Amino acid sequence: MALVNDHFLKLPNNYLFADIAKKVNAFKATHPNAHVISLGIGDVTQPLAPAVIEAIHKAADEMAVQTTFRGYGPEQGYDFLREAILKNDFLPRGIHLDINEIFVNDGAKSDTGNIQELVRWDNSIGVTDPIYPVYIDSNVMIGRAGVKDEEGRWSNVLYMPCTAENGFVPQIPDRRVDVIYLCYPNNPTGTVISKSELRKWVNYALKNDTLIFYDAAYQAYIQDDDIPHSIYEIRGARKCAIEFHSYSKTAGFTGVRCGYTVVPKEVTAATLTGERIPLNPLWNRRQCTKFNGTSYISQRAAEATYTPEGKQQIRQTIDYYMQNAHRMLETLRGLGFACYGGENAPYIWVKTPGSSSSWSFFEEMLYGAHVVCTPGVGFGPAGEGYVRFTAFGSQDQTSEALQRIERWLK
Ligand SMILES: *Cc1c(COP(=O)(O)O)cnc(C)c1O
Repeated sequence: MALVNDHFLKLPNNYLFADIAKKVNAFKATHPNAHVISLGIGDVTQPLAPAVIEAIHKAADEMAVQTTFRGYGPEQGYDFLREAILKNDFLPRGIHLDINEIFVNDGAKSDTGNIQELVRWDNSIGVTDPIYPVYIDSNVMIGRAGVKDEEGRWSNVLYMPCTAENGFVPQIPDRRVDVIYLCYPNNPTGTVISKSELRKWVNYALKNDTLIFYDAAYQAYIQDDDIPHSIYEIRGARKCAIEFHSYSKTAGFTGVRCGYTVVPKEVTAATLTGERIPLNPLWNRRQCTKFNGTSYISQRAAEATYTPEGKQQIRQTIDYYMQNAHRMLETLRGLGFACYGGENAPYIWVKTPGSSSSWSFFEEMLYGAHVVCTPGVGFGPAGEGYVRFTAFGSQDQTSEALQRIERWLK
């Protein structure tokens, strides 16, 4: 008899976006003529950049010819992409990384979920609340999160609430935690962290021997020059931080699949006897065993985002989404909502009016305006009383949704 990994059984069955779909379908069944607009799910809508499409075609043609055909590639990624990453994402910010510190992957979800394999099951973890669910769920699956209380908090997880009261900057913990997950610009709140605030986290990590897993999936949306794009802009971070990047939101690769993880050679974790073990060779070993590389075609597509045309084209699409964000902020604030984020990220985090819960506001707006948002409580207990709007829709649909919300409230 095979015994099941019963940590999986502790996970909540219902998945946020499945619950939303269920409620939307119930609405549609009773309102067959209503056209529902979704500002809910965090997926992009605009097509790939022409430079990326051209690279995909070219790479596909190479696969058709024996002399240029490629089979298994290096598990760590092709050097052409790793070099382009170093030259474009880090050097201009004064960050000097070695090519062997870059691990190309099939997107940031895999590695933000898998990275926890590098530390023992009995480490404690800390997360900002609300949060991208992958960080906690991947720890639950291995038994690291402990047991869950009635409000959905895990016993071995330190929750650091991010609310309007603290300006969505979590307080530095008053005790030590082994591993901390940070995500900036943040999903779901759309808020960012300044260099001086991020420096406090790096200093905390160095002082307490804490490992930081830093998710930079939305760094391309940063508009203000003094907001850090990478944790390695902070001195000392390469001793304590592993960073995740993705082309999904940067260049619309949610269906193409490519991203990368930075594991600096200086980052270590300890054995029980106190010996320091570098994590870079461990991650390399893990990848060589469990991962066979991202497709050649996807890596050529990612490389094309760094050409002059590619850069300009992906910037255009990001600007297009950010115009949505500006319009949403303007309209929703005009209607009296307290709104956060949306200035350096494609998400707007909105306080529900009065003491409305996330889910009741979600339903009121669905039935009143036929517009879908995401209930904030789905991202963690501190998300209660908030909803998330995404700027990833088309401009027409976004404008239409905003007009409906105005009409509904007037
Ligand atoms: C979308 C997203 C990612 C990227 O996921 P991919 O697997 O690269 O598509 C990573 N982190 C957060 C917080 C995200 O919202």
